[in-house]
Amino acid sequence: MLTLLAALALQDPDLSTPERALDAYLKARDKFSASTSIVADTERVVAEVEGPAVSDDLKTRREKRRNERVALEHLQRQPYVAHLVEEAREEGGRIVLTAREFFVVRYLNRATGRMGEEQKERWRQFVFEKVGTRWLIQKEFDRCGPCGGKGRCPWCEGEGTVADKPCPRCKSTKKCDTCVGARWKERSFERGLTALPSLEGFKARADRSGPRAAAEAFADVLVEEQLRIAAVMGRMFDDVIRLMRTYFTPDVSRAAELALKKSAEEGAASLKEHKPEVLELKEEEETRASAVVSMPPSPFGPASRCRLVLLRFGSSWLVDDVQPPCASCGAKGACAGCVATKDQSIRCIRCGGSKKCRDCSGVGYRSEGK
Ligand SMILES: [Zn+2]
Ligand SMILES: [Zn+2]
Ligand SMILES: [Zn+2]
Ligand SMILES: [Zn+2]
Repeated sequence: MLTLLAALALQDPDLSTPERALDAYLKARDKFSASTSIVADTERVVAEVEGPAVSDDLKTRREKRRNERVALEHLQRQPYVAHLVEEAREEGGRIVLTAREFFVVRYLNRATGRMGEEQKERWRQFVFEKVGTRWLIQKEFDRCGPCGGKGRCPWCEGEGTVADKPCPRCKSTKKCDTCVGARWKERSFERGLTALPSLEGFKARADRSGPRAAAEAFADVLVEEQLRIAAVMGRMFDDVIRLMRTYFTPDVSRAAELALKKSAEEGAASLKEHKPEVLELKEEEETRASAVVSMPPSPFGPASRCRLVLLRFGSSWLVDDVQPPCASCGAKGACAGCVATKDQSIRCIRCGGSKKCRDCSGVGYRSEGK
């Protein structure tokens, strides 16, 4: 990937007019997205880190899911085809280009089992600024989808009323409730740039001789996974910033760099403050146990917890299932129907009187599915 981008940079894109700069940018961005497979890279990292800690059965299940995710990522990429500049106007020394971009959407035809393709278009707007001899992008906008860039409420067509009653969607303001009449939505380049500290100095516990030790070791494995995924993403973000330095004004690429740096510092602080821990341990049988472990917050997400099912294989305990909290009952395991009904004399139709959450059978966590 590095060599690809180096090659792109060496080609010295033609930025002598806003139109040429836009053409070079859209092509470079498409080449970049074609060369990146963040899902495949991170899934490989997870498999590597988890390998020694999980059962063969869980390994097989995860491999299946991994392949599905990689296939989905390929399906979701939308290759660029071409674009047409529909309008060019000057605004205080800057040039605003409004363009229609054509791209390909891929989908799986469930009836035939074959992949289908369809060309679609989206409207974009770019603000170009001249820096030296180059035209660089200062802002990028997407046209608001719900109102089609009209700014009017799509529900009442900007009338403010529906069937002589105030429009429930815009509350009679007549404006689109997504863009509030702005028609275009600016893209934020800082958003999504997340980082964690380097793996240096991190050592996952590896004692798996008992269920508690194995649960602790796996909590560390989950942290190590995050750190390694962050490293993979970090390399991609470096490439993104390199791309930005070529096509965007210096203030925009500098802001993105700063956001990335700030996120890494926050990630380091949160990891230092919060350690993963075992909140609960149940030794169910001689060869079976379960544990609830907590995960520290990170720039990738808030603090979380999960339930592990541990099985003994010879002298070591391995993880056989990693279960996220059940969303239906908030990890409490109680039937939502019973909680809502105060009258205990009526038999709950939701759980049939068992009082257990229907979705997780009262465990509070849901299996990945075997
Ligand atoms: Zn309305
Ligand atoms: Zn809108
Ligand atoms: Zn539940
Ligand atoms: Zn119930």
